[in-house]
Amino acid sequence: MAQPRQKSSKSLKNKRRANWKLKPLQLAICPQCKHPKMSHRVCPNCGHYAGRTAVSVE
Ligand SMILES: [Zn+2]
Repeated sequence: MAQPRQKSSKSLKNKRRANWKLKPLQLAICPQCKHPKMSHRVCPNCGHYAGRTAVSVE
């Protein structure tokens, strides 16, 4: 199996391993009920999507 030619420095290794955290959720505001929702998803509060009610929420 191919092996790395050079040993990666502690600095490079630590910088690589520092990049694992998830980014905070990007929430959009529902135009119908102004509730924060995930973009490109049906609103969990009112079931509204793409200018119409896609699913009924009781
Ligand atoms: Zn909504």
